[in-house]
Amino acid sequence: MKAAVVTKDHTVDIVDKDLRAIKSTEAKVKMEYCGVCHTDLHVKNGDFGEVPGRVLGHEGIGRVVEIGDDVTSLKVGDRVSVAWFFKGCGHCEYCVNGQETFCRSVENAGYTVDGAMAEECIVSADYAVKVPENLDPVKASSITCAGVTTYKAIKVSDIKPGQWIAIFGLGGLGNLALQYAKNVFNAKVIAIDINDEKLKVAKDLGADVVINSKNEDAVKKVKEVTGEGVQATVITAVSKVAFNQAVDIVKAAGKVVAVGLPVETMDLSIPRLVLDGITVEGSLVGTREDLREAFEFAAEKAVDPIVQTRPIEDINDIFQEMQDGKITGRMVIDLAL
Ligand code: NAD
Ligand code: ZN
Ligand code: ZN
Repeated sequence: MKAAVVTKDHTVDIVDKDLRAIKSTEAKVKMEYCGVCHTDLHVKNGDFGEVPGRVLGHEGIGRVVEIGDDVTSLKVGDRVSVAWFFKGCGHCEYCVNGQETFCRSVENAGYTVDGAMAEECIVSADYAVKVPENLDPVKASSITCAGVTTYKAIKVSDIKPGQWIAIFGLGGLGNLALQYAKNVFNAKVIAIDINDEKLKVAKDLGADVVINSKNEDAVKKVKEVTGEGVQATVITAVSKVAFNQAVDIVKAAGKVVAVGLPVETMDLSIPRLVLDGITVEGSLVGTREDLREAFEFAAEKAVDPIVQTRPIEDINDIFQEMQDGKITGRMVIDLAL
């Protein structure tokens, strides 16, 4: 089968690879689509450690073609997702207290185990969340990481209807953060990016205010609009500048939810943290239940991912376009092209 594999020199090769036999608790999935997340770009570049030989991809959607003898949660023909949270141990503190994405023995698709950017993928059956049949599978691919991650981050932000939330970065994740924040959580949204194209999309999607932080003082503008600052902010931008601005724009007792993964450190003034009682919290993808909920909202059309399909052979071009900020929404590999 064809698969997109990370090379030693940080590019991607399309190789012919044999899949091993499935184990009794696993299923084999014939992949239909796989979105290209900025995390794949970090993985390919070795930002979290070198992984040559790894099959990329954690926004995968496909149909089950084979199940192991002990599988009861899936049947042949089911449409399932392959997400970054690929498998937990099932019995540690985090797995049992509702925080399974932080399992210390976690497996991550397209990083610690082979992922979904291939014609076929082996999944651990109980961890492969089913996709509603009334949800377009191309759009479902975006929900599998970008959607669930931002849906969860907004949950973590504790935002209430009518309150102000700011989203930094309106790319693959950010456009969905905006849609979940507005259409599911009924918040008022300020969209902040450095790219006018992304901000135009944000405006079209219903952002109440858009700010180009390259041309305007984002902190000043947010204060002008909101008075004391936003209740919460979700940062999907891959830049420490955005993280530092985020700390400055929340009101007292507000919350900064960190999602983007620039390999940098941020500045956090201790008096600001303590005297203003702000919270800074990291949010990592979402649990299987978060993903099920995120899919439902997409199936009900509360959120509508912006997607464009490409052949797997375009993967290195797609990464270049992503790095250059040229992608609106998500590029999705169509495994049938
Ligand atoms: P993307 O490339 O599609 O979007 C990034 C956006 O940030 C772009 O619109 C870009 O213009 C904007 N941006 C860049 N610098 C900015 C700045 N200074 N201020 C405001 N906006 C700025 O990337 P994506 O797929 O949306 O992923 C974003 C980040 O989130 C990546 O680092 C990715 O690894 C990470 N991620 C984290 C999780 C998680 O669970 N925490 C899950 C998925 C992705
Ligand atoms: Zn991702
Ligand atoms: Zn665990």
